[in-house]
Amino acid sequence: MSAFLNFTGTLLKNLVTKPVTKNYPEEPAVYPERTRGHIEIDIDQCISCGLCVRSCPPRCIVVDKGAGTWTINRFDCIACGYCASKCPKKCLKIVPGYQTPARKKEADTYRKSPEVMEEERRKAAEMAAKKAAALKAAQAKKAAAAAAATPAAAAPVAPAAPAAKPAPAEPAPAAPAAEKE
Ligand code: SF4
Ligand code: SF4
Repeated sequence: MSAFLNFTGTLLKNLVTKPVTKNYPEEPAVYPERTRGHIEIDIDQCISCGLCVRSCPPRCIVVDKGAGTWTINRFDCIACGYCASKCPKKCLKIVPGYQTPARKKEADTYRKSPEVMEEERRKAAEMAAKKAAALKAAQAKKAAAAAAATPAAAAPVAPAAPAAKPAPAEPAPAAPAAEKE
């Protein structure tokens, strides 16, 4: 009897309340705030350090510094969030919402803007010039220190005195003539 009453109560309640299921995908899903959905990148903040690559367990990130690209294979990503926690520029974040389903396994590539690439090239050239100047200065300093440590070596060498001429040999005395008997 109590089971029947229970059932009737649930039935009446469900008649007057909304269904708990959603008409997805017509009705967009609402994800809880901390859902581990997918990784997003603010590519222009990326410095191509590669820390995300090294921290990714399934190795699904590729960074190409020269080309200014950051690529992720979303099919291999396990949404662990390690890359986002290691990124020194905080340009990676894990956000709610899942990747769009696809028939083919393709990677997503993000490319830096030309302005950012140009700025990076300029900074790299500046850095290389500074490094070369510092190296040159260090070499000059080292050479000066070496010269100061050995003054004799640096002074001009006096020419050696000419060797004394050998004295002419004295003529040998003539042998005495034999006495006649
Ligand atoms: S969330 Fe995890 S698996 Fe996905 S890209 Fe980042 S480190 Fe790799
Ligand atoms: S860790 Fe961050 S800054 Fe470094 S390559 Fe990855 S996304 Fe770029």
